[in-house]
Amino acid sequence: MLDADFFRRWMTAATALVDREAERLTALDSPIGDADHGSNLQRGFTAVAATLEKEAPGTPGAVLTLAGRQLISTVGGASGPLYGTLLRRTGKALGDAAEVSAEQLAEALRTGVDAVRALGGAQPGDKTMVDALVPAVDALAESFAAARTAADEGARATTPLQARKGRASYLGERSIGHQDPGATSAALLFAALEEAAG
Ligand code: ADP
Ligand code: MG
Ligand code: MG
Repeated sequence: MLDADFFRRWMTAATALVDREAERLTALDSPIGDADHGSNLQRGFTAVAATLEKEAPGTPGAVLTLAGRQLISTVGGASGPLYGTLLRRTGKALGDAAEVSAEQLAEALRTGVDAVRALGGAQPGDKTMVDALVPAVDALAESFAAARTAADEGARATTPLQARKGRASYLGERSIGHQDPGATSAALLFAALEEAAG
């Protein structure tokens, strides 16, 4: 079973990975965006880590809803409301249980990913974070490791796609040939989840 401490470790691991990869995320956002994805997420997750330490929420649901609220209020770019919605809606779906199973987490994350899709209007194949999130959540029924691999593959598979949502879509065909920054950071979230479990 996964308790609040597990979820705090997940967010702490995500913060560390975002810090480590911030320059790469921003570099990916340079040719097909406005070169701020790494700094956007770094700002957001730094605030998440600080708030979790200060408030120490006691349930899995409370950890994720608080983290999501922080991302929404600190990240100006498109990714803030989207990741914020992902975590908030996943947290809400977990309710106020003190511990949840991996199956319950997979089900709750599905609700969260559906909310991201509803908010941003992106379908799989539109070259967004959805292209990593959907396969990851599909694979989560198998294992955390499988979800991480699926997210990585989903992110890499965005390279040949033409963007149909977000800033990159303004480039039309010129968005082809670049990996999507948001799909890349979504894969970090699942790498962090595997770390928290391992
Ligand atoms: P901004 O584009 O406002 O500068 P970021 O650079 O932080 O925001 O995030 C860009 C990422 O957000 C993209 O790489 C993409 O994965 C994701 N994104 C943008 N718009 C959407 C959308 N409508 N639905 C899903 N994801 C989106
Ligand atoms: Mg950007
Ligand atoms: Mg921006």
